[in-house]
Amino acid sequence: MDLIGKVALVTGAGSGIGKACALDLAAKGAKVAALSRTVSEIERTREEIESRGGEASAIVADVAEEAEMRRAVDMVIDRFGRLDIVVVNAGINGVWAPIDDLRPDEWDKTIAVNLRGTYLTLHLTVPHLKAAGGGSIVVVSSINGTRTFSTAGATAYTASKAAQVAMVQQLALELGRHRIRINAVCPGLIETNIPDSTVKRNQDLARIPVIWPEGDIPITGGKAGRSEDVAEVVTFLASDAARHVTGSPVWIDGGQSLL
Ligand code: NAD
Repeated sequence: MDLIGKVALVTGAGSGIGKACALDLAAKGAKVAALSRTVSEIERTREEIESRGGEASAIVADVAEEAEMRRAVDMVIDRFGRLDIVVVNAGINGVWAPIDDLRPDEWDKTIAVNLRGTYLTLHLTVPHLKAAGGGSIVVVSSINGTRTFSTAGATAYTASKAAQVAMVQQLALELGRHRIRINAVCPGLIETNIPDSTVKRNQDLARIPVIWPEGDIPITGGKAGRSEDVAEVVTFLASDAARHVTGSPVWIDGGQSLL
């Protein structure tokens, strides 16, 4: 997979899945604009890409804030002159609570980052993909985006993740004629900074049939995924190797959503 000459924007690239995506896209030759709301973590991502011989810029912005995202996208174009790949990854778990305890401000915060952030990122970047003559977008949703079986209380998160998948399918219709593909990845349990309760983690692990590496048999069930497991699928979807794939929610969950 060769992404030489391509420019990619990755949101939430300061840690976890987004950082792994930024590193993997850069390793395949793309120039990467890495965005997160935290200066220190996004600078580390930039340094790591550059130390491996890649080209990167670090951009600080909150994906839910229109003015900050306008400035961020302008910075990408000023620096690299074009945009070909967008990975919409920034997201939060938010507060998980029974619906009667879920406060309106907590609901709003999750929806603002996960859903408004997705809308703003796409609203502001699609014109540049059109100007480049086409491109590829990958939205990092969740298995919660296609099936609702996780621990009770994830209502706002699940609503935001399902809405991302709906947006991807709707936009695949709209953007195909502009040679822009858009897909979602739906990770299951992945080891990152996103906090999960031990109970939920063990429940999730018990549902994962994939066990690796060879001979590693955890007591609780299967193996959680790594950020790199998601990143390699994202890179594939971003590349021309996936030229006939659009509007697809791709599960990356070791089979977790089968049970
Ligand atoms: P993470 O906390 O390690 O990384 C999230 C990144 O997004 C960080 O760099 C953070 O600074 C950034 N971010 C958060 N809010 C932001 C905002 N408002 N503006 C800009 N940047 C912001 O988490 P992760 O597990 O790597 O999650 C990445 C994505 O993957 C999320 O959308 C999450 O819902 C999804 N996901 C994660 C898992 C999992 O098990 N870890 C499973 C399914 C889906």
